[in-house]
Formats: sequence, C-alpha cells, structure tokens
Amino acid sequence: MDYSVARRRMVDQQISARGIVDQRVLEVMLAIPRHLFVEVGLQGHAYGDASLPIGEKQTISQPYMVAAMTAALELQGDERILEIGTGSGYQTAVLSKLVKRVYSIERIAVLAGRARKILDQLQLSNINIKVADGTVGWADQAPFAGILVAAGSPDVPTRYLEQLDIGGKLVLPVGDQDQQILTRITRQEDGRFKREKLMGCRFVPLIGEQGWQLETVS
Ligand code: SAM
Repeated sequence: MDYSVARRRMVDQQISARGIVDQRVLEVMLAIPRHLFVEVGLQGHAYGDASLPIGEKQTISQPYMVAAMTAALELQGDERILEIGTGSGYQTAVLSKLVKRVYSIERIAVLAGRARKILDQLQLSNINIKVADGTVGWADQAPFAGILVAAGSPDVPTRYLEQLDIGGKLVLPVGDQDQQILTRITRQEDGRFKREKLMGCRFVPLIGEQGWQLETVS
C-alpha cells in the first residue's frame, strides 16, 4: 500500500472537503505517518474515515476529528499546549509540528509508553508525556495557550479553565458517555469565558477526579 497516496486522499476527501482550511494543519496531516500509530494488522485502515482500536479499550481518533480539534485551537506556532489523552500519540505528533511545546497526559501507562516510543522514532522532541489523571491538568506547567481534551467529559473541569492563558482556547467533548458536543471555550481579556458549540462527536470517557468515575464506565 502506498501510504502517501492514502494520506493525500485522507486530507482531500475527509478533511479539506469538510471545510478545514487551516493550511498548516492540512500540511502536517499530509506528512505524519498515521499508520505507525496503529498495530500492524490495522495499518491498511489507518487512513480510513474512522477511529480505530489501539488496545486497553481505547481508540485513535478519526482523522477529521483530529483535524477539526487542532484547527479549533487556531495555532500560530509559538504556543505551549496541554493535551489530555495521549492515546496512540498521533494527535500529539500533529500538535508537536504546529506549536513550540506539547504537554500530554495519559492515564494508561502502556499507551503512554507505546506513544513515547513512536514519537521518539519520529524524532519529535518538543513533547513531554506523563502518566497521570489529566482531569486536573498540569498545574506546574500552566498557563497554556491551548488545551485539547481527547476524551468525553460530563462537564468542563474547572482546572482547565484555571490553567488557560488569556486568549487561550480549550477544546473538549462535553456530554454523556454515548455522545458529546465538541465545545470550544476561549478565555477573554476581560477574564470571562466564551463558550461555542462546534459539532456533535463521540469519544471514549474522560476518567478521573474531575471526569467520569471508573465504576460508572462500561
Ligand atoms: N488523540 C488520541 C490519538 O490520536 O490516539 C486518542 C485519544 S483516545 C480517544 C482518549 C484517551 O484518553 C485514551 O487513551 C484514554 O486512556 C485517555 N484518558 C481518559 N481519561 C483520562 C485522564 N483522566 N487523563 C489522561 N488520559 C485520559
């Protein structure tokens, strides 16, 4: 399989065609080898229009959702970004090419370890990953110009609002465990938070102190 052809088709048909116009996002998604972030048996499906299993009951997000969430942060290149839910590391790789530094938190150690290995192989060196409950953010590295949460939350964890810089954007799925609304919250200069609903989505649950309790997750 020619993965560069598959990537071009993914960007043209799934991302540009659905209205993502941020050229930097499109170029990065054309360049990052998404197939390396899934197990060998699924590599032929890596550029399809869907999320895929990555083990531990978790998923690598659909390419369009990665693009839409990244574009929603409106990145310029000099930001420090917090990502919650490293998962496969694919979204982390995309962000790392678009900002100064990415701080990424994953609660499942085996996933964080696997992601770290691939990101190192790709020589993406502006990434810090830690294994922890990401619902409380990463206080000693705050504030962040952007926070991207790749798991569905019942509400907006207040720590994320506290750790957002003035003008910073928080993008996260908010809703119940079956479906959520992708929401963008911007911290305005007057200290208020502007809240926008971007689209419906379906993510695995954000599990932790400020998210879903593990016992309630099926
Ligand atoms: N964006 C990732 C990718 O490209 O592979 C996919 C992320 S996956 C949809 C969601 C991830 O969030 C899972 O790996 C899950 O373990 C993680 N997660 C859930 N709750 C978390 C928490 N409280 N802190 C950190 N990670 C969490």
